[in-house]
Amino acid sequence: MTEPARHDHAARRTRLAEQLGAVGLDALLVTGLANLRYLTGFTGSAGRLLARADGHHLFVTDGRYRDQVAAEVADLPRRITRTDAWLDDVVGDAERIGLEAHLVPWATARSLEQRLAPAEVVPAEPLVEHLRARKDEAEIDALERACAITARTWEALLDWIEPGVTERAVAQWAERTMVELGADGSAFTPTVASGPNGARPHHKDGRRTLASGDLITVDMGARVDGYCADMTRLVALGDPGGELRAVVDAVADAQQAAVAAVASGVAARDVDAAARDRLTEAGYGEAFVHGTGHGVGLELHEAPRLGTTSDATLAARMAVTVEPGAYLPDVGGARIEDLVVVTHDGCRVLTTPDRSLAVR
Ligand code: ZN
Ligand code: ZN
Repeated sequence: MTEPARHDHAARRTRLAEQLGAVGLDALLVTGLANLRYLTGFTGSAGRLLARADGHHLFVTDGRYRDQVAAEVADLPRRITRTDAWLDDVVGDAERIGLEAHLVPWATARSLEQRLAPAEVVPAEPLVEHLRARKDEAEIDALERACAITARTWEALLDWIEPGVTERAVAQWAERTMVELGADGSAFTPTVASGPNGARPHHKDGRRTLASGDLITVDMGARVDGYCADMTRLVALGDPGGELRAVVDAVADAQQAAVAAVASGVAARDVDAAARDRLTEAGYGEAFVHGTGHGVGLELHEAPRLGTTSDATLAARMAVTVEPGAYLPDVGGARIEDLVVVTHDGCRVLTTPDRSLAVR
């Protein structure tokens, strides 16, 4: 097996520093945990990075992470403290300091404003999230490994699943199998939606027992090296009946149309439209109640969104899902989801298992 590609956190911080200069910020106080992991490798649950446009950064956390931060963030100046007094020493000549406005509580923002005066504290755009949307080599490598484990788990699940087990047992079996195959864990609690529960896109209840004739939607993903896989496939225990087979065919057709629409330079909403138009033609426009996809990385849902109101444009090395579905109340539903990496002329599908309905 080849060694995983190494995360180049310093290169990511350099790109952020360039961004700070471009938007007229002297510094950004980074507090989002996924952003901290992306920029430094820190995997703890509390920390801050003062990232400066001049490249002089400082990482701060508390005593619980003393050893961990020395190992994970060895290449940055660090401080261990529980108060905000450190800011007085390091802010220096910074005049405009950005906060991650979408992540910082209002009370924290007010207190930082007072602490940092006379420097101006301003709400910053999701700058790190914008950088995170386009994956580097190490990130794509981690996503590939997460998707490979998810694929092997799905293939094993098809041999294991049978009438008489509960939805929850299927979800727990999948989570356990992903860990046994080398995942850090499950990226999210799997959705196992059988029979009429298939009409609920994020069904998690789990109490229903699988029966012959059920169509089952399984949405799951492994987490590897912090990165999330996200894949949805369908299995039927015998014949699910003509009405649901028609739904499956329409969703499969829409999903393939949307995957075919993905390429660098394409508007995200056009990928959504590719799926939505097909489902509308098939009579399921009203039954498609969510967007077509989302970015995936350190977080399960991140930039860009692929929906009717998205203003994002796809770019090479973005990792996005393509997951149209159709949901018929009291009848059931279906969704098929792939995780793809955008390329110059199309995309590369990381979730390789057969998309057609598996019948057991
Ligand atoms: Zn999913
Ligand atoms: Zn998804």
